[in-house]
Order: sequence, then structure tokens, then C-alpha cells
Amino acid sequence: MTMRMNPVRRFAVIAGLMMCVAVASSPDGMAQRTKATDDQTQPASVAPRDVRSRNFLLHTDLNDNDAQDLLERLETMLRLISTYWGQPNRKTIECYVVKDLKNWSPNAFEPVGLASLQNKVGVTRTNVRVLGNQFDANSIVYAYANRGTPQHEAVHAYCGQTFGRTGPLWYSEGMAEMGNYWKEGDASVNCSKGVVRYIHSSSPKTLNAIVNSDEVTGDSWQNYAWRWALCHLLANNPNYRQRFRPLGLAMLTGQRASFNGTYGSMAEEISFEYLFFLEHFDIGYRADLVFWDWKTKSSEPRSSRKITCSIQSKAGWQASRCRVKAGTKYEYSAAGKWQVDESAELVDADGAEDGNGRLLGAIFDRGEYKLGEPFELGAYGTFTAESDGDLVLRCRDDWHRINDGNAGKMSVQIKLEGSGDPLPDPRDNVRG
Ligand SMILES: [Zn+2]
Repeated sequence: MTMRMNPVRRFAVIAGLMMCVAVASSPDGMAQRTKATDDQTQPASVAPRDVRSRNFLLHTDLNDNDAQDLLERLETMLRLISTYWGQPNRKTIECYVVKDLKNWSPNAFEPVGLASLQNKVGVTRTNVRVLGNQFDANSIVYAYANRGTPQHEAVHAYCGQTFGRTGPLWYSEGMAEMGNYWKEGDASVNCSKGVVRYIHSSSPKTLNAIVNSDEVTGDSWQNYAWRWALCHLLANNPNYRQRFRPLGLAMLTGQRASFNGTYGSMAEEISFEYLFFLEHFDIGYRADLVFWDWKTKSSEPRSSRKITCSIQSKAGWQASRCRVKAGTKYEYSAAGKWQVDESAELVDADGAEDGNGRLLGAIFDRGEYKLGEPFELGAYGTFTAESDGDLVLRCRDDWHRINDGNAGKMSVQIKLEGSGDPLPDPRDNVRG
């Protein structure tokens, strides 16, 4: 005899509906066009029929070109996410993808699907039956044919059918957005411009508000943007990424796991890097290259002792190993050449005429997790510290253009001003 458990009680997380408005409502969700939609030889929509690919069954009124284009994008995305989670897709993912509701009989959809299509958003319904410690899950996607919505919903359907769960809201929606934006072998930010504009014009939502809130799914595309940003950071930043995939898998497979359990001891570090990401990210930003060095220790230069470090142009703020004191004057000398994009000339730490390539400094208060205003350094000179803290250094470049051919490094020396021999001016060698 088999027991059929009430799926709402047993699997409350996923037996509910996953309403999704993220991409459909974002300001430029409609503006991105595919090759296929630019083809004027086909009508935008046709009579609904079934089209299939290896893993997907679409009931859709998209024209043949658009339907094929969508299937290819869905298959690519599914390959990427199933590789990431290490579980092949088990069964066909069934999707209603609607271009124009006028092409359809209202009876074609169950009420919840119709309601979300009328709002031009998407919803995924997953039913789970439990048999002993086995489960059988079936998902159906209803997605308005905005670019991004079918992909987002298909991530929920894959998780629902594969794991019987989609995880807590912040993870479920953040990862569905990531799946939607995922490009193979490319860790750069690839969200819509509307998401960038929205986040940059908003006061940031705290980590706690995202992870520990009672928010409900389908709340707003704005909330989806914050969840995506957090998932993107945790999945890519080398300080956190090793723990992120196991945490996600544990939450998807019903083990006892939570954000607080995994990252609780690093909450302040994550919060700092999250706010930093929100402030500086844009399309092309590399969270795997721009990350904070929490490990390198700093010390104060004493008497004539120099502190040395190596600073790369292809990175964000880096540890100088030097702790500075407010009001104290220091000498520095930066030897080497670097460039800030593929075609840029090699320059010294004074940088190019446009200011890029110049060595910059800032003072980080480790106790308060506060980064001071950046100030200009260069190849050679002195500076007076405005506050106590760890000196961090970087090569000036746009934060989202650190991967466009940046190369080279500086060997930097720092010491107290006026004690011992002066540091060498590295430009003397060059100028001869
Ligand atoms: Zn969703």
C-alpha cells in the first residue's frame, strides 16, 4: 500500500505557487530583442501548438523562429544549471509560453496560470507526491513570452522536478534570475540595464532583509534584483563561492542548512562586500576578480623598515600590508608597468593622461568595516594618512572594465617619511 501524503503539509515550500514578476516587469525586459524576433517575415504569434526539444515541451503561440530560438536558449540554460547543481534533468519540462492571450481559449490554462499570464508575468506550479523516502514531482510553467520569463520559470521547474524543492525564497528567486542571465564560461555581470539602474538609484537592502525576511514570492521585480545580486556575489566571489554550491544543494535536498548556519561567522564580511558590489557593479563587473583580501595582515612601518607589496591592475582594492596612523606622513615608491585595457599603452603608476592606470589608495577600518575616500598616489611621493586603518591600493580603472585586458603589476614600497634612506624614485631609471 502506498501512502499519499498531503503535499501542502509535507512540502509546504514547493507545493505553493511560485509567482514570478522579476524579468517581465523590469524596465527594459521588453526592449531586448532576439535575432529571431527581428525577423519580419513571420507574424509575431501564430495559433497555439506544441513544439519540443530534448528536455522541453512548449505549448506556445510564438512563431517558429521565436519558438526555436527559445528552445535553444532553454536547453543551454538547462545544461548550465544542471551541471552547476550536479543533477541531470529527470523529465520533460512542460511550459505554456504565451505571446498573445487572444490566440488562446481561456480554458487552455488552469486559473493560476491564466491569472499570471493576464498580468504578463510567469508562474510555476509544482505538485509533489511522496512515496516513502521517494518523491515524484511535476511542474508546469506558465510564462508570458517576455525575454527572460520562460527561462526564470524553467529554473524553478527544474529544481521542483529534480529536488522536490526550490529552496528558501532568496535562494530560489536569486538563482532563477542567475539561470536566466547565465552565460557559459563567463562570470561577468550580465543582468539587464534596468536592474543596474534600479539598484544604483536605491538605498541598498540589507543582507538581513534579504535572507531573513517574510517576503513572499512574486512580490516585485525590484526585490528579485536584490536577491539576484546576493546570489551572484556568493556564487562568484572567491571568499564565499566554495560554500555556496553545497549550501544551495543542502537547501534543495532538505538537509538542515541555512544562510546563517553557513555564513553566520562571515556576516560582516559578506555585508561589506555585498554593499561594495551594489555600489560598483555594472554589466561586465567581475565579482571573481574584485573581492576583499581578509587574510593578509597589516603592520605599522617602524623606524626605517620598509613594507613591500605587489599590486595587480586586474583586481580591486588590494592589501598593502601597511597599517597607517592618522596624521602620520609616509613615503611610497611604486615600480613597474601596467595597462588598463588591451589597447592601452603600458604606463607607470602615475597613470595615463586620462587618469586611468594611476595608483590609488584608501584606508580601511577593519573594526568598523568602513572604507575611506580613495586618494591619488602615483609612482613616487608622500601622503599623510587621514585616519587609522589598513592601507589598500588599486590601479584606477572602471570597476566593470577590469577584465578587458588589464595586465601588469606594481612593486610598491612604503615607509615612514624622513627615517632612514629615502626610497628610490622608480621613474629615474626610465627617464635615464
Ligand atoms: Zn521565480
